[in-house]
Amino acid sequence: MEIKYLRFAALLISAWAAMSLQFNVAYAEGKAKVTMLYKGHVEPIQGKTFLPWSTHDGARSLSTSVFVIQSGGKVLVGDPGIVRKGDWPTIMEKLANMGIRPSDVAYVWIDHHHPDPTAHLGAFPNAPIVDFWSVYTDEVWADHPNYFEVIPGVTVVRTPGHTNEDSSLLVDTDDGLMLITHMFWHNDLTPVIDPVAEDQHSLDVHRRLLLQRADLLFPTHGEIMKNPFKNTEWDGKPYRR
Ligand SMILES: [Zn+2]
Repeated sequence: MEIKYLRFAALLISAWAAMSLQFNVAYAEGKAKVTMLYKGHVEPIQGKTFLPWSTHDGARSLSTSVFVIQSGGKVLVGDPGIVRKGDWPTIMEKLANMGIRPSDVAYVWIDHHHPDPTAHLGAFPNAPIVDFWSVYTDEVWADHPNYFEVIPGVTVVRTPGHTNEDSSLLVDTDDGLMLITHMFWHNDLTPVIDPVAEDQHSLDVHRRLLLQRADLLFPTHGEIMKNPFKNTEWDGKPYRR
């Protein structure tokens, strides 16, 4: 009986060793690893008008999906923004459990300038902020080109539409190219018409341009999914699985 348990334990340990080996090999090849720290949401509040600017006392409930990318020995945190009350310490705990201290974070990237992806920007003392056009290191505001590789395999692409200051990330992962973007808020690719877009036409152009290239899609109020529109044109409709 005891020997049987020992054998089972040995089997578990060797399976774990094989998995860690696989992870290390993949990491050494320079592919980026994306880990979600928090899943965002956007929801109406009962009795309140959902759309901004419709009434003077409208309101909505939202948070942003917070994530971390590890690549080439560098750590990037994405969209450290609004979370539900009391949830921020849990996010920092998840980072700590991955062996990442706030001071280890090399860059913070924000998908646009509204408070939803930016509210906790100050939590990473050594991390320059990266947005659609620049890298902000202390008092130095340094410009970068479109398609800027911020850490190995992680590229910032300008995707104006929701605001003129929106960008997305193209991330080279083991599972293919991942598009991390606010161009879609949710996993059903809604809202098709962004109710607060500064330029809906530009939003649609950039959606079609990038969506067909990506194997994986990560809408920044949602979570990572397989891209149903890889190599085909998005039909401009909500996506139902
Ligand atoms: Zn916004």
